[in-house]
Amino acid sequence: MVVDTERDGATWFECEDCGLLFDDRSEAEEHERHCDAEGPSYIQ
Ligand SMILES: [Zn+2]
Repeated sequence: MVVDTERDGATWFECEDCGLLFDDRSEAEEHERHCDAEGPSYIQ
């Protein structure tokens, strides 16, 4: 799911599955629909 997160005084929208940050909620939601991350596994 997409969660709001505040960073550097701005609100970002984070894909909870893979941790990607977006500055636009609709972009985050669009990404989340196609996100193929399985669970909270973080790259590196
Ligand atoms: Zn994702």
